[in-house]
Amino acid sequence: MLFPQPTEMTITEPVDPVGGTCGECGAGTLARYRLVDYRGWLRVVKCRSCLAVTSSERIIAPPQGMS
Ligand SMILES: [Zn+2]
Repeated sequence: MLFPQPTEMTITEPVDPVGGTCGECGAGTLARYRLVDYRGWLRVVKCRSCLAVTSSERIIAPPQGMS
């Protein structure tokens, strides 16, 4: 059985747009969201244009299966 291709390009976390402009590229595309690295979960404010990280903090891992 074949499954249709997902239409989403990426699996997305809820993204909070935040005000301000990127210190690196000047784009007004800063957003706050969660991500995981090898040490665990982070909440970051990151430029969606050039991917510069404006701030990041360690957070408790969210429960699996919840948003
Ligand atoms: Zn930027």
